Amino acid sequence: MKLTIVYDNTTTDSNLIAHWGFSCFIKYKGKNILFDTGGNGRFLIHNLKHLNISPESMDHIVVSHPHFDHIGGLSEVLNENKGNAKLHLPMNFRGVKFDNEIFYYDSPAEIEKGIYVSGEIDNIEQALAIKTRKGLAMIVGCSHPGIKPFIDTLNRFGNIHTIIGGFHNFNDFEMLKDLTKICPTHCTKNADEIIKRFPEKIIKGGVGRIFEVI
Ligand SMILES: [Zn+2]
Ligand SMILES: [Zn+2]
Repeated sequence: MKLTIVYDNTTTDSNLIAHWGFSCFIKYKGKNILFDTGGNGRFLIHNLKHLNISPESMDHIVVSHPHFDHIGGLSEVLNENKGNAKLHLPMNFRGVKFDNEIFYYDSPAEIEKGIYVSGEIDNIEQALAIKTRKGLAMIVGCSHPGIKPFIDTLNRFGNIHTIIGGFHNFNDFEMLKDLTKICPTHCTKNADEIIKRFPEKIIKGGVGRIFEVI
């Protein structure tokens, strides 16, 4: 599984735009998945173009939760996608118009072989998980319900070894000790503390960051 961060609060590449929000692109077994869409459609499309990622090529678009910094680019991406993708939304996110199927989740589901959603938790948010050789990599938006409910829901599909995304106010640091990799991004209040405690596990976030998860 190859992951590219396409929207985040920071970047080290001056050709890319850093802005409040989160989105990442995942390439997995020939499938293209976009998780969340950042806070601004123009910035998102700019970053995708510079990273040679075509919105039209998405097979799946997954939204974690309907806060502006995660859905700001959704209408632009859906326009450019031309109905090629399946759209996977948490239960509470209504009113989206799209030329292809829209799926709503209130419980965990496999959306394609090896690709899972937690379904909406605490009436707000869902997480994504991808099966790799070692277990599951979990991708989260803001983690408003906390990290633990997502782990407790998704671990029925495999052991979670990597977490990528926003940890919100997470401070139960001991919980992370068994993970292989951690990539804290946008919306991680205690990112410095996580990095200090687990330097060997950290994958740095930021727009333009590309890494493989095995
Ligand atoms: Zn949020
Ligand atoms: Zn956020």
